[in-house]
Amino acid sequence: GGDNNEGGYVYYSEEMNRNTLDLLRIETGLLHAFEYNELLLYYQPKVDMNTLAITGAEALVRWQHPERGLLLPGEFIPIAEETGLIVQLSDWVLDAVCRQARAWKEAGMAPIRIALNVTAREFTRSLPDRVRAALSRHMLSGDWLELEITESMLMHSTDRVISIMEKICSLGITISLDDFGTGYSSLSYLKRFPINTLKIDRSFTMGIPDDTNDCAIASAIIGIAKQLRHKVIAEGVETEKQFNFLREAGCNELQGYIFSRPIPAVDFHAMLLEGRKL
Ligand code: C2E
Ligand code: CA
Ligand code: CA
Ligand code: CA
Repeated sequence: GGDNNEGGYVYYSEEMNRNTLDLLRIETGLLHAFEYNELLLYYQPKVDMNTLAITGAEALVRWQHPERGLLLPGEFIPIAEETGLIVQLSDWVLDAVCRQARAWKEAGMAPIRIALNVTAREFTRSLPDRVRAALSRHMLSGDWLELEITESMLMHSTDRVISIMEKICSLGITISLDDFGTGYSSLSYLKRFPINTLKIDRSFTMGIPDDTNDCAIASAIIGIAKQLRHKVIAEGVETEKQFNFLREAGCNELQGYIFSRPIPAVDFHAMLLEGRKL
């Protein structure tokens, strides 16, 4: 291609303007969202593969946009990261999860781990103190929380990362490695970190059972988890075939549409009470 430079120029400049405008619009919109309480959390159950009991949930942020309806994180998290608003967003999520957990505790719910997604940018020396402060503000013990971090965080300044993780663990909070297998962690590295769970990324689950590579990778991750005595959970389980394959391969837990989509807090609570089965 490239035979029409003028057309190409117009195309790219329109694209750029549109993206810049989108970015600005979403940035100002996000500031508005904090002020007017437009952010909310959905909860997706994590389920034991053998008993089908709900073992926890992942908190996933949503934005109830005044004009555009319910927005998924893919539409605003990247912009929050680019603009630095992710710091404010993460603080909001941490506080909102603890507030919800406190309400559930008051309603008589036994402690259940609610997992938060933590970005590389937040994974700093101040994180353990921020989490401790949030727990004490809402009078909660650490067994209500789990942090999901990605592999890429294990790659730099190992000692610093281990010390942050150890402080988090000393609060009774567990850590799971999100999107496992999509990054570049060397396996010998893994055993040095105080991690509880490996989370098989949806991109691998999706290929089960037809893609032999995805099946092999999922089985290998389960094998690594067993060797290191970590728990292993598969994300994005949608079909019975995926479920059966993973269960037979020794996967401990699942998260996926086969059991439930992410749902509002009240629905999650109702689901826990009725002990919903697959
Ligand atoms: P993630 O951490 O990998 O979260 C799992 C995503 O997979 C969620 O998308 C969930 O709705 C989706 N999912 C789960 N099971 C299935 C399934 O069976 N089929 C399909 N098609 N999808 C499934 P969601 O809620 O759109 O979140 C996307 C990403 O946004 C998350 O990926 C996470 O990286 C980020 N995110 C969400 N909430 C937060 C947050 O509070 N803070 C930060 N920093 N990131 C967040
Ligand atoms: Ca996650
Ligand atoms: Ca994922
Ligand atoms: Ca992720």
